[in-house]
Amino acid sequence: MVDLLPEHTPLWQRVESTARGHFRRAAIQEIRTPLLEVTELFARGIGEATDVVGKEMYTFLDRGERSCTLRPEGTASVVRAVIQHGLLSQGPQRLWYGGPMFRYERPQAGRQRQFHQIGLELLGFADARSDVEAIVIAWDLLADLGVGGLALELNSLGSADDRARYREQLVAWLEVHRHQLDADSQARIHANPLRVLDSKHPDTQVLLAGAPALADALSEESQERFAQVQAGLDALEIPFVLNPRLVRGLDYYSHTAFEITSSQLGAQATVCGGGRYDGLVQQLGGPATPAVGWALGMERLVLLLSQGAAVPAQPLDLYVVSRGAAAEALALPAARLCRRAGLAVECDASGAAFGKQFKRADRSGARFAAVIGDAEAAEQVVVLKDLRSDRPEQRLPLAELVGALRAGLEAPPRA
Ligand code: ATP
Ligand code: MG
Repeated sequence: MVDLLPEHTPLWQRVESTARGHFRRAAIQEIRTPLLEVTELFARGIGEATDVVGKEMYTFLDRGERSCTLRPEGTASVVRAVIQHGLLSQGPQRLWYGGPMFRYERPQAGRQRQFHQIGLELLGFADARSDVEAIVIAWDLLADLGVGGLALELNSLGSADDRARYREQLVAWLEVHRHQLDADSQARIHANPLRVLDSKHPDTQVLLAGAPALADALSEESQERFAQVQAGLDALEIPFVLNPRLVRGLDYYSHTAFEITSSQLGAQATVCGGGRYDGLVQQLGGPATPAVGWALGMERLVLLLSQGAAVPAQPLDLYVVSRGAAAEALALPAARLCRRAGLAVECDASGAAFGKQFKRADRSGARFAAVIGDAEAAEQVVVLKDLRSDRPEQRLPLAELVGALRAGLEAPPRA
């Protein structure tokens, strides 16, 4: 689990505020759910046979002997909340969430045990256009942030019936080739056979080229739906590649599955993954509700963006320098006055010699310094000094400080 130090947070803040803007303009509202849920929610909502539930969850008994789990992903919690509060009776829901997720994985670049996701969920939407809208929102957000080397990979997992039919064919084929599979894949043949397609094992990958294809098992209806999604992406000029091996790790997906990868990420290439999960709301006890969504990994996104230009920290407008009891008593009220007016102000509370405080003022990057000595305090005035130009200093009553600062900030600093 990783600390985000002050040098890291400006980039995170930029990503978060850009995402908020995209969601606001797409009429998507934020939902916040607890980090802790009963374990049962994830066992039912994600599936016992998945890696996430099988070996990655932080699960413990609380003091009331209930099995609790730190959320490993956001969708199950969002669906639980939507059901619990009857939101679907008010109509379809367009929701986003963000925050930390927890998975007990082997940490490496772009893979942590506490990591952060931003996710989108469109609940109550069945049409292929909603798949396209979900994808375009992710695509445009990543493009707007300036992420390079993006590729959209697309597949259809078909309906539950299609998958049941395909599962039989696949299991039969995997049984025949059992001895050629890696150990993990052998263990999955019956528990989660579709996940074998997703195996990272090179020999298994080569072997799978001969496996029956999911695309061939899709009904005509599912094929037509998949064609509509592709036509929608074409119309928006979003390039994609079909990847018949792309199966999401979570059991509740159907029809569209997609991943957005970046060629600049190395081994952990997937920045965003999502798809349709028409069965989940009902599986968790709600009304049958078609839905589509995605989740984006913040660490991987930030990793990509930090290869570019650094985000400059917000500059300070004013640094307040004071020395002597009466002056020091005036410093914080002066800083507060300016902060209330929307200016960024640091107040030196060290009581050090003026020279030392001036050095710090200069290093802080602040444009102006307000200097208060005991003489100024006695008259309730401050001396305002432009630290970045040769303009003469001004002696001002406190009440005129904000106005003078605003005027001063309009004038350019020295080159
Ligand atoms: P992977 O195959 O990389 O393990 P996943 O299929 O488990 O990904 P999802 O559950 O779909 O991932 O989560 C969506 C996104 O969240 C991923 O594409 C990735 O960007 C990010 N993510 C998932 N697990 C981690 C992790 N342990 N650390 C950092 N980011 C993660
Ligand atoms: Mg994973």
